[in-house]
Amino acid sequence: MATLYCKTTEELIEYLSLDKAFQAKIIYQNLIKGITKFEDMTSLPKNLRERLSAKHSDALSSEVIRTSEAESATKLAVKLEDGMIVECVRLSDGQGRYTACVSSQVGCAMGCAFCKTGTMGLIRNLSAGEIIEQFIHLSRLGEKISHIVFMGMGEPLHNFAEVVRALTEFHREDGLNISYRKITISTCGLVPGIKRLSELKLPVKLAVSLVSADDATRSRIMKVNKSFPLNELKKALISFQRHQDKRITLEYCLLSGVNTTKESAEALSKFTRGLECLVNLIPWNPIDELEFTTPSEREIQNFTKELKRLGVGYTLRRSKGREASAACGQLASESKKTL
Ligand code: SF4
Repeated sequence: MATLYCKTTEELIEYLSLDKAFQAKIIYQNLIKGITKFEDMTSLPKNLRERLSAKHSDALSSEVIRTSEAESATKLAVKLEDGMIVECVRLSDGQGRYTACVSSQVGCAMGCAFCKTGTMGLIRNLSAGEIIEQFIHLSRLGEKISHIVFMGMGEPLHNFAEVVRALTEFHREDGLNISYRKITISTCGLVPGIKRLSELKLPVKLAVSLVSADDATRSRIMKVNKSFPLNELKKALISFQRHQDKRITLEYCLLSGVNTTKESAEALSKFTRGLECLVNLIPWNPIDELEFTTPSEREIQNFTKELKRLGVGYTLRRSKGREASAACGQLASESKKTL
């Protein structure tokens, strides 16, 4: 059946042929708790439960077809109503905080050279309901999830309307009630999308996959830079900060010999000047068909030494979920097999 998540009370009434608004509200409250079988919604009258169960075996439009576990990450392959597969990951910080990493598209049009999802091209956008369902599947693993990152498959700002609908739904006070401040949108630098997001003034966090602060290099590995070069990106980020007053994360995937030189560090230092940001260094996660290599420890050390000298604030993160193939750029692997 079509997803019931993100439907308004009126839409639920119409879609399920309900008599009363309060029945739609009860169904909604069950759905956000992850109760998706009508027969289990015991606060509904018995005859209504029976009628709905006879027509719809489950209120979810998607199902989990595979689970892979690693120390700090659990990855789910989720089959959508039309047979497409997306992946989502529950990340643990080891101290009781759980984060849902969700996909916003099947595939991605942005074609970043270091990213597996980029090799697929864009198959389709996800609806807001399909995004919320990923969160529900991850919540059903058992722990309360407090944070959300849009870092799965797809460029969230390229599916702007549905992602914003999903944000509103995540935040809904009588629903999942997750603070905007606990939600991060990760973009490859789609400037018009950053501007639209600024205008909405939603206090979400922003992460930008920067990867290189040198236009020539960035254009070579990230197509988006040809349309929206670094000076435009920086202006958009400054404007975003003016509206949101928030530190931006610059994701910097370390690619051996590509963006780890002394000049790369200097370019990064120049780009970060005037921005309140933290650079998140992530050594590249090897992907078979792609030509990059992970920098050696020595190369990483030399680069970080240079950043320190230049006063660039950074963290060095080993990508969580590496063991579950759930790190950035690896979420296409399972989907590709099915296409
Ligand atoms: S890094 Fe993000 S924007 Fe770039 S191709 Fe991969 S999923 Fe798309």
